[in-house]
Amino acid sequence: MLDKKKFYINGEWVSPKKPNDLKVIDPSTEEECAVISLGAIEDVNDAVSAATKAFETWAFSKKEERLKYLEDLYKVYKKRWSDMAKAISLEMGSPIDFSTQLQAGTGASHIKSYIKVLKEYTFEAKLGEHALNNNIIREPKGVCALITPWNWPMNQTCLKVIPAIAAGCTMVLKPSEIAPLSSIILAEMIDEIKLPKGVFNLINGDGAVTGNALTSHPDVNMISFTGSTRAGALISKNAASDFKRVSLELGGKGANIIFKDADAEAVERGALRCFRNTGQSCNAPTRMLVEKSIYDETVERVKNFANSMKVDIASKEGDHIGPVVSKTQFDKIQALIQAGIDEGAKLVAGGTGKPDGLDKGYFVKPTAFADVNNQMQIARTEIFGPVLSIIPFETEEEAIAITNDTPYGLLNFIQTQDQEKANRVARKLRSGMVDINGAGLAPDAPFGGYKHSGIGREAGKLGLEEYLEVKVVSGWND
Ligand code: NAD
Repeated sequence: MLDKKKFYINGEWVSPKKPNDLKVIDPSTEEECAVISLGAIEDVNDAVSAATKAFETWAFSKKEERLKYLEDLYKVYKKRWSDMAKAISLEMGSPIDFSTQLQAGTGASHIKSYIKVLKEYTFEAKLGEHALNNNIIREPKGVCALITPWNWPMNQTCLKVIPAIAAGCTMVLKPSEIAPLSSIILAEMIDEIKLPKGVFNLINGDGAVTGNALTSHPDVNMISFTGSTRAGALISKNAASDFKRVSLELGGKGANIIFKDADAEAVERGALRCFRNTGQSCNAPTRMLVEKSIYDETVERVKNFANSMKVDIASKEGDHIGPVVSKTQFDKIQALIQAGIDEGAKLVAGGTGKPDGLDKGYFVKPTAFADVNNQMQIARTEIFGPVLSIIPFETEEEAIAITNDTPYGLLNFIQTQDQEKANRVARKLRSGMVDINGAGLAPDAPFGGYKHSGIGREAGKLGLEEYLEVKVVSGWND
């Protein structure tokens, strides 16, 4: 079992003030694979104090200096790519091929993308020709608390740590206690590039004690959080008392509108996007809205697709899906599948219980429901498992209304070969992101949502600006 009990504070690996061990469970086997420590308030205080001290100089570092650290980090990340992929696969059950290509791959892609963004970014500019002595300066926000979940661990961690470094902020990262191993590897990489002491600190811990201590600490200036809507609301309350800046990436319940003129692969592409990562993606299209005239054949195609999906342990190579992350998630998903059956949705694939031959591990059958109505629990709750709800519609207006009838607004999808219709519908969807015909977002496209899906944007220039305050100085002359 891996011993990962130390925190990374002020450029050193240090033991927690009080021992408080937590076992990390491999979801493929239900066995303990590592032990970490849960940080106490005293540990949080040490980490914030290191970040506060480091900010005094790091805030005034040159862009070129920060760029060099990111370039070095990219090299080290590529060298340790396989360690990263294995750690993610172990901690959260992502199959090793998916983990190598996508899970670990997103971390590298964000570092690369932010190197480009930083190179091109101008931190100072004049207000305009009409006011040349009004100088706009973008400055780092200060000490950041970065709190991340377990489902896309390196994606989410790099979307915070990298722009924070690029902006000149200092930080305390608290990864998910369920999947902490990948962030520990990132901390080792940051140690290897010799980022100045205290700029990056890592502390492990839970939400109730460690996360709460961090987000209520008076010396924290900004919080960037990815996780559940429930925790996002609690964190916002903590932040309100001293006006900490808050950026939130929360849940989703994306719709995928399949019009009758959708391309030949649209249905399977949509189902795969829902099931991949074992359905544990906030931006997954979990409600498939299907135009009435192609409804029956689409249900049949989804059924065949779900039944053909392979499920297996994470360490095996191949294109199967792995287990869900924990017993808690497994139980929650089982209860929601049962709720779908009880509310009268038609189960067309999967169902409750584990797939054949996989008695150990948190494995869920790829499940599809047809004849779902948008008021059912399975259409309203973020299930975070491989469960797809198929909902029929008759008109474009109805599809738009169903899509928008959710508290969330992260990513919605449109499938049609009529580009004019696709653009028209895209404008009417209340979400931060819309994908037409599986085009895919660029690595620096703004990621984030409307409504209960969060506040702010990650990735690219807008993601960098989340870490910057705006100052204007009048009477400036240079
Ligand atoms: P979670 O909210 O339980 O935990 C996320 C992180 O927050 C963990 O590090 C946890 O320890 C911490 N935390 C929990 N309560 C806290 C509190 N009161 N104060 C401070 N920190 C606290 O979520 P999870 O179960 O780890 O992740 C799954 C959720 O994350 C899903 O709802 C999913 O939709 C959401 N998510 C959203 C995005 C996005 O970008 N929009 C991306 C991934 C995941």
